[in-house]
Amino acid sequence: MNTRRTFIAKIAAIAAAPAFLCSKSFAQAPPVKLEESDPTATALGYKEDASKVDGSRYPQYKAGQKCEGCVLYQGKAGEANGPCGAFGGKLVLSGGWCAVFAAKPKAP
Ligand code: SF4
Repeated sequence: MNTRRTFIAKIAAIAAAPAFLCSKSFAQAPPVKLEESDPTATALGYKEDASKVDGSRYPQYKAGQKCEGCVLYQGKAGEANGPCGAFGGKLVLSGGWCAVFAAKPKAP
């Protein structure tokens, strides 16, 4: 093969490698589940089961509030969990709750 053509092909491959490797690592990174023991989760009173929220500590909590009804919940309806915008995209349970809860606006 022509030396110049080989050189250009190698340069192109080397230049493309970091972008390919980065996209592969992000694309294949499994979503991380938010644990109640996570320091930020603890600070915001995250519970995987909203019915276990300490109402005396979080008086803003109202029965029936759950992650699936929060504007920051990015999961699909009916799924057990989904990414949460308040926790950097970590997975929260659809039946969970934290002090950042903000109800989704109701459809007109
Ligand atoms: S911000 Fe909303 S979706 Fe995220 S954990 Fe708190 S209540 Fe759940």
